[in-house]
Amino acid sequence: MFEQVKLKYNFNELEPYIDELTMITHYTKHHAAYTNNFNAAVEKANLTGKSTEEILANLDMVKDEGLKAQLKNNGGGYYNHNLYFATMAPNGKHAPEGKLGDKIVSTFGSFEVLKEKLSQAASTRFGSGWAWLSVDKKGNLQVTSSSNQDNPITESKGEWMPIVGIDVWEHAYYLKYKNLRGDYIKELFNVIDWNEVEKLYNKAL
Ligand code: MN
Repeated sequence: MFEQVKLKYNFNELEPYIDELTMITHYTKHHAAYTNNFNAAVEKANLTGKSTEEILANLDMVKDEGLKAQLKNNGGGYYNHNLYFATMAPNGKHAPEGKLGDKIVSTFGSFEVLKEKLSQAASTRFGSGWAWLSVDKKGNLQVTSSSNQDNPITESKGEWMPIVGIDVWEHAYYLKYKNLRGDYIKELFNVIDWNEVEKLYNKAL
């Protein structure tokens, strides 16, 4: 059984950037539903024991198209939100250092340029989806975006792993920011914990 990541902060602690009601609804309703539906689909597909990454990277092994879609949508919803919630913190590290910090500078020029690229990817994603910073097995970095609950693992069949995910579904920001997705994206950077992102980067190498 897959379980939602345990939050290291209270629902109200990302205020004023992410409001308490959005956090409660997002975690206890949206993410909980993806998790339950993913567990049901995993059981139905006889994939118990496999990791989420393995399942998402190898969706082609599921021949039933309906079941494949359930695994992609709910497995993505489960995985993407685990990443999102685990890499936020009220008092996190505000800029990356170490290997990741160096790679960001050599790839994008500066951390500021990376933030611009991520913001651009998030704000121009039409409809519901995500923007990503991802790493491959050589430590290369890329910024992309996906629709719905797709992610770099499903899209690259496991070649790229996301280490930052910006949720731009309206449920992630509408209660506080209404139609102003750009404001939400700008404020979200206040609660991304780059210490956690560095750990994910180092683990992927
Ligand atoms: Mn969401």
